[in-house]
Amino acid sequence: MTDKTKVLLTGDRPTGKLHLGHYVGSIKNRVALQGQYDKAFYMVADVQGLTDNAENPEKVRNNAIEVVLDNLACGLDPAKTTFFIQSEVPEIAELTVFFLNLVTLARLKRNPTVKDEMTQKGYGEDVNAGFLIYPVSQAADILAFKANVIPVGIDQVPHIEQTNDILQKFNSLYGEVFTKVDVKLSETSRLVGIDGNAKMSKSLGNSIELSDSNEVIEKKVMQMYTDPTHIHVQDPGKVEGNVVFQYLDIFDSNKEEVAELKAQYQKGGLGDVVIKKRLIGILQEIITPIREKREFLAQDPKQIMDILKAGTEKARETARETLREVKQAMKIDYF
Ligand code: ATP
Ligand code: MG
Repeated sequence: MTDKTKVLLTGDRPTGKLHLGHYVGSIKNRVALQGQYDKAFYMVADVQGLTDNAENPEKVRNNAIEVVLDNLACGLDPAKTTFFIQSEVPEIAELTVFFLNLVTLARLKRNPTVKDEMTQKGYGEDVNAGFLIYPVSQAADILAFKANVIPVGIDQVPHIEQTNDILQKFNSLYGEVFTKVDVKLSETSRLVGIDGNAKMSKSLGNSIELSDSNEVIEKKVMQMYTDPTHIHVQDPGKVEGNVVFQYLDIFDSNKEEVAELKAQYQKGGLGDVVIKKRLIGILQEIITPIREKREFLAQDPKQIMDILKAGTEKARETARETLREVKQAMKIDYF
């Protein structure tokens, strides 16, 4: 059943090819939910991608098409979801400027996801202003389309909270223009990277990509972090923190066999290679059809650009309409 009162929006930063974390954290939900609401949008977040890649515009430009290919290959359908490019909808930038008046510097600095990312990137106080305020720009991405259903991974929750703070402030100052935004978290809202240290991320080099070949998948799984104290097959091994078992819990549909393997591993007598081989087969089975569809779609880049062009025009119509309403509420509708 479609809920005509709701609008869905998601997107990716074009900073690299997408990986299994995107697939389980967000894309699966996007695909399942498209068509259930009044409108659905998919945004190539190139403006946000530039906030930490200002010196590398080619990277952002080249990956714009890659993230679209990844989403199309996973089943996001341009007939149901409007694909657009963030920088081509200048109304978003305009709305960002208005929203900046509604947020304090202290609040921006408290955002835990931004804090983590700043530590990871070694920014400290030298963070550029664009990066620090990207959650405000993200609030504008969402609200320019009056979107209220956002399928994302758990790292995005603080940003959605910030969006709700901004819209409440806006509504209380200027009148009820926006409705509360809901996060749609998936069952796996944070997939750990193959190193076991952090979330799988494009920027950390710890990912398995949706475009990886069977050989690369095999190589990456063989490198996965398991239990460093499990040296000989007969040694008892740890399941907690063991990335291979974390992945089997998520991707292996035979839960009973996984439980048996865990028991055997903990007791001793089960080698890492056996569980890794099992995981390799499962991941190859998931990724192969995505990779093949991706390769097929990549043969016609013009078609991808046409999808983006038509979608961007459509998205801009919606954003223009919202900005008209916003400016009227803010009493800056002069002519
Ligand atoms: P970057 O390192 O450039 O920030 P990223 O890998 O974090 O890249 P994003 O484009 O920032 O990817 O995230 C896009 C979407 O995918 C967001 O909804 C985010 O929550 C989700 N996502 C990204 N990585 C993971 C992960 N490891 N587990 C679950 N969801 C994820
Ligand atoms: Mg990210």
